Formats: sequence, structure tokens, C-alpha cells
Amino acid sequence: MKIIMLGAPGAGKGTQAKMIAEKYGVPHISTGDIFRANIKNGTQLGMEAKQYMDQGLLVPDELTVKILLDRVAQDDCQNGYVLDGFPRTIPQAQVLDKALTELGDKIDYAIDVDVPDENIVKRMGGRRACLSCGATYHIEHIPPKAEGICDKCGQELVLRDDDKPETVQNRLNVYHEQTQPLIDFYKEKGVLKTVDGTMDMKDVFAAVMTILG
Ligand code: ADP
Ligand code: AMP
Repeated sequence: MKIIMLGAPGAGKGTQAKMIAEKYGVPHISTGDIFRANIKNGTQLGMEAKQYMDQGLLVPDELTVKILLDRVAQDDCQNGYVLDGFPRTIPQAQVLDKALTELGDKIDYAIDVDVPDENIVKRMGGRRACLSCGATYHIEHIPPKAEGICDKCGQELVLRDDDKPETVQNRLNVYHEQTQPLIDFYKEKGVLKTVDGTMDMKDVFAAVMTILG
């Protein structure tokens, strides 16, 4: 099963993607996580990506597409995957589409997690991320067991640099301009499904399960 998560930054794509991946035993692939791991390890890719990410801008397609295509070519992706944060532009979607078509394959579902901008701004300030294992929490809605510590790996949780209020509005603008058009792209392909992302995360997941069966 090949699934794409669509939605604004902070809509809950990652939260849902991790639950879907666990349920179906397929990898959760987040281009944002891949970039953050590269930043943490001080790679050339990380240094380049950081310049864009810190401003709330998209990392250029030339850098992003290659890492994604390399990742989905790995063995653990043979039975499918959940993409979270990719594609984010029409050219990225076209490249993925072409690569899959060449393999006689296709995306099964593009799930749009729909959340209005005003809810997003509130959510982002409360997001806490573990840069070690990629787990995500919310200080009010989905708190860790011990404040500031990751339940899964015990490392410190941080407010992502790009979750600071001054950057969140830029990211929302970029989303509306460059990423929202993907909703029509996948609607035309007949694979678009929409869930109301303002519900409690368990109810959002129940709606996703109804779609995936
Ligand atoms: P995205 O991957 O779309 O950027 P995340 O999954 O990281 O979004 O979620 C953004 C923030 O909102 C996180 O702090 C997360 O814990 C929280 N969150 C996710 N889903 C819900 C929900 N249904 N209700 C409330 N908060 C949520
Ligand atoms: P995310 O973790 O999905 O919120 O992504 C964090 C940041 O990484 C984004 O704001 C972009 O700067 C960058 N990024 C992640 N995925 C992509 C992508 N598919 N295309 C371009 N930039 C991306």
C-alpha cells in the first residue's frame, strides 16, 4: 500500500503517518525527518537544507526529489510506504508519478488531513519534537509522560526552529501557494481522500482506517 499524506504544516500528517505505518507494517518516510537527521549529522545536504528550512521555505526540488527516490528504492519499501511531507510541489508529484509508472506502480491513496490555518498556528507552538528518533508530541494534546523527555528514546524534546511563530506564517503561505495545488492533482487521479484533522488524533485515525479498510 502506497500512501501520501497531504495537509498544511502541523495538520497532523506525521502523527497519523506513524500510526498507519505501524498498523500496516510499512515504513514512514518523512523528508523533513531526513533533512533534520542530516542537519544533526552536519552533512552537506543538511547544511544546504537548513538555509531554507529555517526561513520556512521549501528545500529546492533538485535536492529533495533525489533523496526521496533513493529512499523508496530501498528494500523495506517493497510492500509500500507512507510518505509524509512529500510531495510538496507539483514537479515533485510529477517526478514520483513518473518513477512509479515506469515500475508499473501507482499511489493508492492521498489522504488530505484538513485543518484550518487558525488551529495550525496554535498547534505549532505546542509541538515538541525528538530530534533523535523523530517522535512528536504536543504539550497540551499529546504530552510525553515526563515533561521535555521523549517517551520512546529518553532524549530531550525541543521546539523546532521552524515552529517559532515568525516562521509558521511563512510556512502556511508556502503551503497555500505551492503544496495545496496537489489536492487537485490527486483528485484528478481519483485517489484523494479527505479527513477532518481538527478532531482528536484517535478520531482522525479512525477516519483514516475507514478509508484504508
Ligand atoms: P505535521 O506532520 O502535519 O507537520 P504533526 O503530526 O507533527 O504535524 O502534528 C503537529 C502538532 O499537533 C504536534 O504537536 C502533534 O502532537 C499535534 N497533533 C497532531 N494531531 C493532533 C490532533 N488530532 N489534535 C491535536 N493535536 C494534534
Ligand atoms: P516537515 O517536517 O514535513 O514539516 O518539513 C520541515 C521542512 O523541511 C519544510 O518546511 C521544508 O523546508 C523542508 N521539506 C520537507 N519536505 C520537503 C519537500 N518535499 N520539499 C521541499 N522541502 C521540504
